[in-house]
Amino acid sequence: MKAAVVTSFAEPLQIQDRPVPEPGTGQLLVRIEASGLCHTDIHAAHGDWPVKPTPPFVPGHEGVGVVEAVGAGVNHRLVGDRVALPWLGRACGHCEYCVRGWETLCGEQQNTGYSIDGGFAEYAVADATYAVPVPAGVSPVDAAPLTCAGLTTYKAVKVAGIRPTERVAVFGIGGLGHLAVQYAKIVGGTVIAVDVEDSKLEMASDLGADHVINAGKVDPLQAVEALGGADVAIVLAVVPHVFETAFAALRRGGRLVCVGLPPESDGPMALPIFPTVLKGISVIGSIVGTRQDLAEVFELHARGRTRVIAETRKLDEVNDAIGDVLAGRTPARIVFEI
Ligand code: ZN
Ligand code: ZN
Repeated sequence: MKAAVVTSFAEPLQIQDRPVPEPGTGQLLVRIEASGLCHTDIHAAHGDWPVKPTPPFVPGHEGVGVVEAVGAGVNHRLVGDRVALPWLGRACGHCEYCVRGWETLCGEQQNTGYSIDGGFAEYAVADATYAVPVPAGVSPVDAAPLTCAGLTTYKAVKVAGIRPTERVAVFGIGGLGHLAVQYAKIVGGTVIAVDVEDSKLEMASDLGADHVINAGKVDPLQAVEALGGADVAIVLAVVPHVFETAFAALRRGGRLVCVGLPPESDGPMALPIFPTVLKGISVIGSIVGTRQDLAEVFELHARGRTRVIAETRKLDEVNDAIGDVLAGRTPARIVFEI
């Protein structure tokens, strides 16, 4: 089978011919149809984060495909079903986090496209318990970005506890941001989209954003304050100073939801203690979402409540696609059709 493989953090990915993997006990063999390119895949390929994957490995945690075979202990009736293989490839299932609905915090978790081979290949094996069914009416090309970009922003909107009429500023419109805008609208928020590119802000308006701010042309802090400040700021950008701006733009009782992950070398964000205390600000880290969250994301899409903006490419073009994402030359999400 064809696979895009990270052989070293300093080299481009290699397209290799590898044997089709065998599903082990409790696993599925999935013939991948589509797999989205997430910024995390690029950080994985470059070894940017403190806990690094071990080359050689196959990135991709937005793989969507059809179950072709099952290993021992898995119901054969799953063969032929479409499933998604999200970042949470496996968790222990019995620690306090798993048991109380926070499997995404499990200390024993394995991550697709990071510690286990992911979706940038014609086939992948996955834990049958952690693969998420894709309902009829959600195409593979739409399901792929929903599997990380959709899931992650849906969860961020959930943990922000947005009440209808609250103002929600979304910093960074792209693969994640275009979905964050839609989820914030669905829960009744008034959405302020912030980016540095007019084309992305136009897309945000198209998808329902009430206000747009081009942070390359005006001071985003003043612009959000002119709208009355934000009750919630969801930061999807991968630059520490954007987190600081978002924090400063919050009203009393505001919530800063941190989602974007800058490279470790960019350093920490500065969090001033006085306004945090006096304004009663909550700072919340939000990491992907659970299987149940993803089921809800798919259901919303199947009901026509969300739109996915994506551009399809061939897997052979993986390195060019990474270059385009890094240069900001992509609409919202690149999806490899496999
Ligand atoms: Zn991702
Ligand atoms: Zn666990």
